[in-house]
Amino acid sequence: MQRTVAVIGGGPAGLMAAEAAVARGAAVHLFDAMPSVGRKFLMAGKSGLNLTHSEPFPAFIDRFGRDRDQLEPVLAAFSPGAVRDWATGLGIETFVGSSGRVFPIDFKAAPLLRAWLRRLRTAGVQFHVRHSWIGWDGFGALAFATPHGPAVFAADAAILALGGASWPQLGSDAAWIDLLRDRGVSVSPLLPANCGFNAAWSDHFRARFAGQPVKPAILAFEGSRDRGEFIVTETGIEGSGIYPLSARLRDAIAAYGVATLAVDLLPDYGADRLAAALCRPRGSRSLSEHLRRTVGIAGVKAGLLRELAPPSALADPTALARALKSLPLPLKSARPIAEAISSAGGIAWDGLSDALMIDALPGVFAAGEMLDWEVTTGGYLLTACMALGKRAGEGAADFLGLPPRQNQVKPFQ
Ligand SMILES: Cc1cc2nc3c(=O)[nH]c(=O)nc-3n(C[C@H](O)[C@H](O)[C@H](O)COP(=O)(O)OP(=O)(O)OC[C@H]3O[C@@H](n4cnc5c(N)ncnc54)[C@H](O)[C@@H]3O)c2cc1C
Repeated sequence: MQRTVAVIGGGPAGLMAAEAAVARGAAVHLFDAMPSVGRKFLMAGKSGLNLTHSEPFPAFIDRFGRDRDQLEPVLAAFSPGAVRDWATGLGIETFVGSSGRVFPIDFKAAPLLRAWLRRLRTAGVQFHVRHSWIGWDGFGALAFATPHGPAVFAADAAILALGGASWPQLGSDAAWIDLLRDRGVSVSPLLPANCGFNAAWSDHFRARFAGQPVKPAILAFEGSRDRGEFIVTETGIEGSGIYPLSARLRDAIAAYGVATLAVDLLPDYGADRLAAALCRPRGSRSLSEHLRRTVGIAGVKAGLLRELAPPSALADPTALARALKSLPLPLKSARPIAEAISSAGGIAWDGLSDALMIDALPGVFAAGEMLDWEVTTGGYLLTACMALGKRAGEGAADFLGLPPRQNQVKPFQ
């Protein structure tokens, strides 16, 4: 008799788990709480869908920091190159951008998702949307809330791919945490990752500069220096330049109550050249005019300088140069997880087998952002979610004793 696998969660991790399990001959049923699957994947497409990264594998895997050892075998089995081949198999060509990031050539997620869903349906995956998983019934069957009332589904194995807690309006609301903790599963608290931060802007600065990008800049914290850009928001700062530092900033704030970022507003100026330029006599020109004419500091950068530099620095060209190269920006707290790009925390690695089966729940596997790992943006999130989904799908098939790849999923025609 055909063995049944239930995949709960239709994000990239769940869809890849379904693909792996159906390729092994399982009858796969995929459930999602939302009216359609892949909503966060589609949202990622709004900013170009950074699918993966082209850097060499050792550098790629190092991005995962403390989670490197757990993720290395998973990503070796579904590498950044495999992600590109997979997209090509769905009829979507990719390209490497100047930063090394990999995108579909049209920067869109919808055509890729459409082709993927078509291929999964053709392979036999059955989709059940508006099915919100709420735990198990008294007989061990999966229990769902649906618009038509409660429903149950008995599966031979289940794969949970329920996401983290960012952007809950797209479906991943982390309601699974209590369901799993009640069953003895160890779950680390979910925290914002790749997130913005709150700063204590004056009313004047906020009113003038909220919404403006600061670029180019170098952001430094605890020995790391990254060139990038950020946006001044009503409450603080946000944007791609902050994300590589956000885990460390968040953890430092938790430990010390504040984290002070050092912002280099003139990354293309050496400190000496800058000091020499600022020491030129300014005659009757105001300081603002002098800064604008000599080193091009104006607008939001000039606003930041006035907001954050000690008043004494504004009177002394050498101190001014130092402030422009390393402006202290104290951050008070991370923005809420609902606004973050992703979340840290989740099901602890030490409660999972290599095949991603939850030790406390035999026959139940987990994949994607709901596991306890985090990584910066750059295509690493989607690649790891898909690789974990593949590992969980194959793990479930192995658990059910299914032979290797019976039902090869055909490339998109
Ligand atoms: C704005 C934005 C842009 C991003 N851009 C990129 C990018 O360019 N590159 C990149 O690598 N990453 C990007 N990410 C991150 C990436 O989208 C996520 O890491 C990834 O989608 C997580 O995949 P997942 O399958 O684990 O979870 P999700 O994609 O969150 O999917 C989880 C699914 O589970 C369902 N679900 C949750 N609870 C239940 C339940 N109780 N019952 C049934 N179903 C449930 C949800 O409805 C959802 O469909 C972006 C994220 C955001 C918010």
